[in-house]
Amino acid sequence: MAIAQSETLERWNSLLNRVRAKVPFYGERIPARPLTSLDEVADLPLTLKDDFRENYPFGLFAVPRDEVVRVHMSSGTTGRPVVTGYTRSDLELWGQCMERVLLAGGVSRADIVQNAYGYGLFTGGFGFHMGAERIGCTVVPTSSGVTQRQVMLMRDLGTTVLTCTPSYALVLAEAIDREAQRTPLALRVGFFGAEPWSEGMRRQIQYGLGLEAFDTYGLTELGGPGVAVECSEHNGLHIFEDHFHAEAIDPESARPVPAGQEGELVLTSLRREASPVIRYRTRDRTILLDEPCRCGSPYRRMLKVQGRTDDMLVVRGENVFPSQIESILLDIEGLTGNYQLVVDRQARHLDTLDVLVEARAHSDQEALRRRAEDQIKETIGLTCKVTVLAPDVLPRSEGKAKRVIDRREL
Ligand SMILES: [Zn+2]
Repeated sequence: MAIAQSETLERWNSLLNRVRAKVPFYGERIPARPLTSLDEVADLPLTLKDDFRENYPFGLFAVPRDEVVRVHMSSGTTGRPVVTGYTRSDLELWGQCMERVLLAGGVSRADIVQNAYGYGLFTGGFGFHMGAERIGCTVVPTSSGVTQRQVMLMRDLGTTVLTCTPSYALVLAEAIDREAQRTPLALRVGFFGAEPWSEGMRRQIQYGLGLEAFDTYGLTELGGPGVAVECSEHNGLHIFEDHFHAEAIDPESARPVPAGQEGELVLTSLRREASPVIRYRTRDRTILLDEPCRCGSPYRRMLKVQGRTDDMLVVRGENVFPSQIESILLDIEGLTGNYQLVVDRQARHLDTLDVLVEARAHSDQEALRRRAEDQIKETIGLTCKVTVLAPDVLPRSEGKAKRVIDRREL
């Protein structure tokens, strides 16, 4: 590994000293003695999303407020938003990480980058903007939405790089598919993140937009995108370990799981000044890989996020991850990439799982329904009811898609 253990240990101890002294939340929790080995990291307390909410807005900041030059936050659809702050140096480091993300796809100053991540409180828009500008690309800051205009600009400006959520990439692909006039697009690569997406979705995006799709990873709690990115092998995302320390833990026992085994991703920001985070439980399920990658990168990989530990549905006693169903559906030719899962509880207290999918125009809906029901039954052992709808019936998302509706809590 390119990053020496001793250097990392030193960085850990200086980080722990800093947060102990500057953030009362950590001061009360982190033992005073320094770490003597990186193995001891696993004994430090974890930080949860609720800790951010309880310390809203500035309670977890480690610098005086007048050193904070920017804040971003998560949408806060459930409870208080998660706030993260940046000093001037944090913005510089974030920009470097975002530059690295784009360089992984060979982006250069010759590229025209259409940035359809939302600008504003969400980290995606500004993050990708900074990275592309540092490289010297021509940045087109469209933000998300106004799909027709996005497609028009892709054509008129000759956009070569697209950045947005994978759900929105599918919306754009559909809009292009519907166009009567089919002049080829100049799109070459795209960077998609901020929500989990399957290999099936990758195929649909790549086919629909005619580009090579790169998965990127990041989250508001760690300062936004720029934590990890795929290389052109597309076999896992390289974690920027000079900025972030990654672990995988068993979600039940919270103890580390060995490399190569699925666990919940836990991340620590090693360099952030304004909002350092120690051992954040991301709730994202992944596998960390120790083996070197064929691309020669010094950084370890995490496999594509398989979903979240808290999005598991229990339907009639069976564990179901929406991502499993997504993979099955996207392998069935004739379906669009859009779907919705509706879990309900009937009068006799039996949970039902309804899977709503959309057929492409001119396809045999009855055959698609049977095929989808059989495949789901065969793969995850669950009987469900598939309803095949006409194209464009399900809601489209400009940001993160809402795929699951659980009516049982109502
Ligand atoms: Zn690689």
